[in-house]
Amino acid sequence: MYKINEIFESLQGEGAFTGVPSVFLRLQGCLVGCAWCDTKQTWETRSEDESTFEDTIGKKTDSPLWAKTTTDILLNHIQHAFKAKHLVITGGEPCMVDLRPLTEAFELKGYRCQIETSGTYPIEASQNAWVTVSPKVGMRGKRPILKEALERANEIKHPVGTDSDIENLKDLLKQIDIKDKIISVQPISQKEKATSLCIEMCLKYNWRLSLQTHKYLRIA
Ligand code: SF4
Repeated sequence: MYKINEIFESLQGEGAFTGVPSVFLRLQGCLVGCAWCDTKQTWETRSEDESTFEDTIGKKTDSPLWAKTTTDILLNHIQHAFKAKHLVITGGEPCMVDLRPLTEAFELKGYRCQIETSGTYPIEASQNAWVTVSPKVGMRGKRPILKEALERANEIKHPVGTDSDIENLKDLLKQIDIKDKIISVQPISQKEKATSLCIEMCLKYNWRLSLQTHKYLRIA
């Protein structure tokens, strides 16, 4: 069973798959506690917010309503409701649960799965799942970034507000072999200073710039 907060279709707004039509499956629950989090409604899994699958997927605004559901129900709904074949499993923190049944079932039906995680939990997913680790260092939840999560990542996309975020990223990258990984930096909240810093660091270290294009475009 998976606890879901919402399912919607849009363009992937950030990272390596920017612009790709995607189905976003947002899971409920996160203990990481990022100050700038824009999905705080996913943090707590309160029994009073439990709802039906239909009501949860039908809600029109962000809310902490969630529903328990199975891989088969998700597969059936997503196949019929949406065209996109790129499934983004996000949260909340999706790696708080075992994602192997979900990713394996969707891949069998021709989907590519992408997991967006903070890197603070072990990643249990199919071998082919694309893993985007967006390391959340020093957050309120005090969860360390796991080396095994960095090693599993296909893409490490670090949120950047100040110089200290760059130092944190460099420290993380020292722990692993980055040869086959995409390394990108993403300005927090589209701030001008953070964006300039990211551009400078991309040119200095040959990293990529990731912009939250959905926020510029004002789409979901
Ligand atoms: S890990 Fe993601 S969902 Fe959790 S607090 Fe941070 S930004 Fe929000």
